[in-house]
Amino acid sequence: MRPVIAIAGLGIESSTFSPARTEAPAFHPLRGDDVLTRYPFLAPGQPLRESAHWRGALVGKALPGGTVTATAYADLTEELLDRLRQLGPIDGLWYDIHGAMTVENLDDAEAELLARIRQIIGPKPIVSTSMDLHGNVSRELTHRTDLITCYRMAPHEDAMETKERAARNLVEHLASGAPRPLKAWIPVPVLLAGEQTSTRIEPAKSVYAAVDEVEATDGVTDAAIWVGYAWADEPRNRAAVVVTGHDAAAVTTGAERLAHGFWKARHDFAFVAPTGTLEECLDEALASPRRPYFISDTGDNPTAGGAGDVTWGLEQVLARPEFKDPTGPTVIYASLPGPAAVATAVEAGVGASVTVTAGAEVDDRHAGPLTLTGVVHAIRHGDQHAEVEVVLRVGSVHVILTRLRKPYHHEHDFTDLDLDPRAADVVLVKIGYLEPELFAMAADWKMALTPGGVDQDLVRLGHHRVRRPLFPFDRDLAEPDLTARLIPPSDEELTGRDE
Ligand SMILES: [Zn+2]
Repeated sequence: MRPVIAIAGLGIESSTFSPARTEAPAFHPLRGDDVLTRYPFLAPGQPLRESAHWRGALVGKALPGGTVTATAYADLTEELLDRLRQLGPIDGLWYDIHGAMTVENLDDAEAELLARIRQIIGPKPIVSTSMDLHGNVSRELTHRTDLITCYRMAPHEDAMETKERAARNLVEHLASGAPRPLKAWIPVPVLLAGEQTSTRIEPAKSVYAAVDEVEATDGVTDAAIWVGYAWADEPRNRAAVVVTGHDAAAVTTGAERLAHGFWKARHDFAFVAPTGTLEECLDEALASPRRPYFISDTGDNPTAGGAGDVTWGLEQVLARPEFKDPTGPTVIYASLPGPAAVATAVEAGVGASVTVTAGAEVDDRHAGPLTLTGVVHAIRHGDQHAEVEVVLRVGSVHVILTRLRKPYHHEHDFTDLDLDPRAADVVLVKIGYLEPELFAMAADWKMALTPGGVDQDLVRLGHHRVRRPLFPFDRDLAEPDLTARLIPPSDEELTGRDE
């Protein structure tokens, strides 16, 4: 008998330090059987697909952004719950989330949603949750789920592998007839930016290498470390460890090993690339013989939750005398949303000279809308995120303007716009750590600590609601309690405190 497994979830990381708001369409929700198309390992004929009756309810995934509006959350969750109700009895549920969704007037949204899902599916079905390692794992979330895991790589090259593991663990658990998994949860009072915790380098490399070793232990099903999400201000925002399995000693020992490993390394987490002010980064790029020289404009990184339309960085770039003349060093700047500017450039056409104003419609706290005069270099329609993109050459700077914000992570994002980043002198991208293709392309790279909704200087952002003490807000805190808490199964009551 193949089990019936539903799939549901909402995924976003949303900054509470950005004035942007996220509405329901940003989640591009898939419904019913369409949900399965998100996952290559659930394509017809794949072993996992054939091992269960998979039933999509609703899965939505948004680009990182601002807080989700209460209305958007209500609309999406009501539809998700309705669809689950219509599915009838199920044996399992795969809860595919990110774990850093902030919603207006609501804390710990993913745990709240899972509690409501439980009201519909009942206490019996086994729930397996897959997350981003930048998600937050509260005691409540751990309680409501039976299995839980997250990515082990940042950048997240193992995203699909992680989802597949969550789905496979669920299928295997249902087939085994074993009792509900045991869950050892440990909150770790550390909150770090993703750019300080890349698993490409130490100490995160070793801290995360231990995850595989713990998972390989007898009696352990899965092990995971969450860095947590730094740009939201809720009590749950901090690092956490969960190890699941069927042997209490094994899950407890494994979780404590991982929690101690993370805690001990807290002072050693450094930015993944050299950092500086934008001015310092530009000076170094111009003085360096290495080409292309990449600079991350980090404070407004749309893939961390920045509004994406902060003009502060581009304003500094265009003010540099070196770039005023078209024969100056070739610079690519990705990117700035400006729907009216894009419309004007499209109307004028490639080769035309235009004066347009763009940016600072959402986040104008650091600089105002920017007026640019330049030549339209390229126009492209049909991008999934940007919808329309244009390149405006201003002096020697090729500025990418978009109708809607878009992350630039791949070489084709540039070459599709008739830009050659490999031949450029300097490439500035609103990003944190470089995604793999750009990382491979960069001859050198520096991260500019610029202002915005995902400012890398966490302490200056002003968190008020996170649990204290918390590193690095409190630098000299005493050894915390890193003993494993065995969280009661979802069909038992959760009592006690969330510490
Ligand atoms: Zn992430």
